[in-house]
Amino acid sequence: MGLIVASKNFFFDLLDFVFPNFCILCNKKVLRNLFSICDDCLNSLEMSNQKDIDEFYYHNLASYKLIINFYSKYEFVKEGNFQKIIHQLKYNGKSKIGLLLGQELGKELLKHKWFEEIDLVIPVPIHRFKKLQRGYNQSSLIVKGINSTTKKVFNENAIKRIRNTQTQTHLGLHERMENVKDAFKVVKKDEIFNKKILIVDDVCTTGSTVHEIARTLLDAGAKEISLATLAFVKEKDFSIKV
Ligand SMILES: [Zn+2]
Repeated sequence: MGLIVASKNFFFDLLDFVFPNFCILCNKKVLRNLFSICDDCLNSLEMSNQKDIDEFYYHNLASYKLIINFYSKYEFVKEGNFQKIIHQLKYNGKSKIGLLLGQELGKELLKHKWFEEIDLVIPVPIHRFKKLQRGYNQSSLIVKGINSTTKKVFNENAIKRIRNTQTQTHLGLHERMENVKDAFKVVKKDEIFNKKILIVDDVCTTGSTVHEIARTLLDAGAKEISLATLAFVKEKDFSIKV
């Protein structure tokens, strides 16, 4: 056993020596098992505060009366460090970042009373074509990270995206709502029935996508819907690429 551990460590040491691993933000050398981001950079991400979370919830989510709790760990600032990190996750194949940030989000969720009552965690589904293209659903990775720190049950396949919607970057709020209308379908009704569900997404801009998912889940018999995202866009700049 000791020998196996020792040789495994030796293997990783050798790998780090031959192919050094660098932090994706500052380029400092990091060990292979540290998700390619150093502690200093992880701590430099723009943290949210309760006042901004409450304001975002009030302006974007509360009036639809579909999502009853909301938490987000970071604020998405244009050109900020969080944006650089999330683009590595979404557009540059750095999938482990999703697990790491999911773990960080999970630690914060444990501090919220309403989170204790969540029965099931569901990632925002992406269309199978996009999954083929990207290789993974980034929200599923975040959910797995949350599971590793909170042990909350999750299901990646309870709901699926049946329409591959166009990118929402240049659409206004009303167009976004139309764009995602009827884009989702509950596949496993018995698994969501009467459950208090937490939807998980990477970044929340206007909430149009998560509202459509919440509506679809409630129509299929879910009891209550909450939302957790890594970050939210405070500035109402619909052209920001998230
Ligand atoms: Zn760094």
